[in-house]
Amino acid sequence: MVKFAIELDWKVDADGYRLIDNEPWGWSIARNGGRLMSVLPFKSIDNHFKTFANIRTPQQLLQFVNVHGLLHDPDPLGSAIWKLNERTKELEPSPLAQIEGERVQTCLDQANFFWKILRARESGRNVPQLIGSAIAREAPSDAIGEMFLRPSARRGVKVVFKATSLINGMWIQLAQSALGDTQIKSCKFCGAFFDAGVGTGRRADALFCKRSHQIEFNSSKRSKKPIPAVSARQRV
Ligand SMILES: [Zn+2]
Repeated sequence: MVKFAIELDWKVDADGYRLIDNEPWGWSIARNGGRLMSVLPFKSIDNHFKTFANIRTPQQLLQFVNVHGLLHDPDPLGSAIWKLNERTKELEPSPLAQIEGERVQTCLDQANFFWKILRARESGRNVPQLIGSAIAREAPSDAIGEMFLRPSARRGVKVVFKATSLINGMWIQLAQSALGDTQIKSCKFCGAFFDAGVGTGRRADALFCKRSHQIEFNSSKRSKKPIPAVSARQRV
């Protein structure tokens, strides 16, 4: 897959976000209603999807959203609004507001799917096949962005993908990574995903995301302290 730059003009609430308990439909995550700040989440960082993949709890999701903004909401003025479809018992976006914000379980399911893909990639399974069948079920079916050609001082021209939402930009990152040549590894200490192999700055046989985690891992092994639960969670 051709490596291209991903762009996104996104908004983050200056007052942050909050978790709302919508008994009996579960949690949602919504803006606190502060000033909306413009952000460019993909400007210099390319690892959002790896961070996102390790989100397991509503609190971790809240932390992520506080920094990067909501995942889906394309409306700069407000949160997506959901209502319960009485027939299917599923939540649907609707102009008839019942639940404020994005549904937390949907976001966590997506994060878990990202995690499964990265783990499959790490263990050398047939990832394109896996992604293909999963995309058929889980990925957005409408347009997730537009391609542009832009002049580039260094290369003459560059291909740019302008995403329509944070989650759609991360879908593209995931696909680029899953179909690319670099190796994906998860840190034995903290569970974070990182690239390894030629051109990544990490050796192909690296086991840790950074040197300090190797040191902490070794010392926790020596003192038989339990290592953080994240590296042991949900091996699917
Ligand atoms: Zn680590």
